[in-house]
Amino acid sequence: MMTPDDAVAEARARLQAERAEVMDELDTLHVRLETKGDYGLGEGDPMIYQWELNLALCKRAEQHLAEIDEALGQLDRGVYGRCDRCGKAIEPERLAVLPHTRACSQCAQRRR
Ligand SMILES: [Zn+2]
Repeated sequence: MMTPDDAVAEARARLQAERAEVMDELDTLHVRLETKGDYGLGEGDPMIYQWELNLALCKRAEQHLAEIDEALGQLDRGVYGRCDRCGKAIEPERLAVLPHTRACSQCAQRRR
């Protein structure tokens, strides 16, 4: 049987592992973004397209990182796993798949 403390410890471990992955991804993307100068400024240049794609990926990774940090902050404050919208506990199965989610599956579905 998993206790709530176990679930929190597991969520923290997962979030920290996920955070390390995103940090690695951001490192890689930042290195790629810094090489823009070598691409020249040709309009419609496939290299520019690639650079813009990297920029978009970078922004997404930063957003992801912010979500992870928010979830880690909630763990520290002891309020992790509560739905932002209805205030109910988020299903453990959902947290296992999406440890940084802020909404229970019902509220997440309603949003669509
Ligand atoms: Zn909810």
